[in-house]
Amino acid sequence: MLNINMEKYRLDAQNFLSELDKEYYLHYAGLKEDLNTANIYNRYSSLFSKDNFKVITGLKKSAGSDNEAKKLSYLTRFCGEGLIENCAKELVDRIGENEAKAAIDIEGRQVSYRYCDVLIANEPDKAKRDLIDDKRTEVTKNTLNPLLYQYWESMHNQAKELGFPSYRKLFEFLKGQDFSLLEGSMDGLLEQTEDIYMEHFGNLLQNELGISLQNSRRSDFAYFRRAAKYDKYFKKEILVSIFKDTLFQMGFDLERQPNIIFDVGERKNKSPRAFCATVKVPGEIYLVVMPKGGQDDFEAMFHEGGHAEHFANTDENLDFEFKFLGDNAVTEGYAFMLEHLMQSASWLSGFLKMAPDTAKKFVYFSNISKLWFLRRYAAKLKYELILHDGKGLAGRDEIYRQILGDAVMMRYSPEDYLKDVDEGFYCTNYIRAWIFEAQLKDYLHRKFGYEWFAQKKAGSFLKEIWSYGQKYGPEEVLSQLDFKGLDIAYLVENLKEQISKSD
Ligand SMILES: [Zn+2]
Repeated sequence: MLNINMEKYRLDAQNFLSELDKEYYLHYAGLKEDLNTANIYNRYSSLFSKDNFKVITGLKKSAGSDNEAKKLSYLTRFCGEGLIENCAKELVDRIGENEAKAAIDIEGRQVSYRYCDVLIANEPDKAKRDLIDDKRTEVTKNTLNPLLYQYWESMHNQAKELGFPSYRKLFEFLKGQDFSLLEGSMDGLLEQTEDIYMEHFGNLLQNELGISLQNSRRSDFAYFRRAAKYDKYFKKEILVSIFKDTLFQMGFDLERQPNIIFDVGERKNKSPRAFCATVKVPGEIYLVVMPKGGQDDFEAMFHEGGHAEHFANTDENLDFEFKFLGDNAVTEGYAFMLEHLMQSASWLSGFLKMAPDTAKKFVYFSNISKLWFLRRYAAKLKYELILHDGKGLAGRDEIYRQILGDAVMMRYSPEDYLKDVDEGFYCTNYIRAWIFEAQLKDYLHRKFGYEWFAQKKAGSFLKEIWSYGQKYGPEEVLSQLDFKGLDIAYLVENLKEQISKSD
């Protein structure tokens, strides 16, 4: 009979995650040039053996209490995910290196592959945008896809070696979910928002960019979403203070939260997008920003700030599993909750001094962008379920182009079929978080009014639900608030109402 010391396992798991997050923090904050995750995996590779996976899965079956069973199911996922990642760690580092080194030629100038997204989002000339996009796609196809093909093939093989018919089935087991149910809900969303999307997004794209939906491609959305005309409200100089002031009104004083380490310094290799690294929960949380201004920059800051506050307010006496592991739809939901303050006209006029009619237009634009993302994620889930069905990778590029293109009604490049894929069905966390957040907001509105974010009482409520870390999944949090689990109707109805009333 195989045996493991579970206390030691938990401690090692916690140290592994801490070191990994510290490494990500140092690299993406521009404080350390290389990103050496393979090293950390090597040091902790004993965590991810097939024997451990079998033992933990077995212990879960015979757990003495619901609490113990939950902790073991979170550990099963940790071990399973780590196990298959561990087998491809060198490949992952090689893909990262190749991507970091790749460059394209734009009008005689060498531009890094990773910087293409920033260029596209800021390029007003469609012909130039298309050109950058085409060149970027060439690099994806020739430089990255051969390695990504190997990567996904090895992930699929690992799932089979663990005794599952497919990568999909492995993750349904690890997450304890039936993905078909979520797919069904999202099919409903696609159907119920099709007309409103075509009309409102189609018109706004035509009016703002002078492009018809029929002649548009994915990269045009990046420019649409950049929405530079609102830059005068979203200035980089005020980003950090607006975030702090917003939280202060709810009763969170960042000056008195030493466990949130605010990294706002300018560094050459620092990630242009805000991010949060949870090295210790709740003791050492990095909130990293390099303000550049613009509505998307503010959104990213509030989103990451939501993660930071959630984990910073997590009760330190909780078991390791509930602080570091669990269902990420929970933390994504809290992140969306702060991010979506930008869809509140009173927040926009109160904090950013937008005139009421501008705020109304911005809310309309922001809800349409959100609908675009929801339709894209509905399609991503549908596609990823096919990609990971256990029948190989051949011909999946055309399916990707078709499914994504049909949902957002813009042209997608088939070459992105291996790159535009979320690890371990992370897309389901975002989708469930959007649904969770819509219900949470419904509760906040009923309990504290539309200006909930300006009330200490709402802050105290958040402090309480945040203190549970990820012990409870979204369904359990919602049932405490008298909902019957996740219900997509709140999300769909709210979006339809917001978009049609702003017309
Ligand atoms: Zn997030």
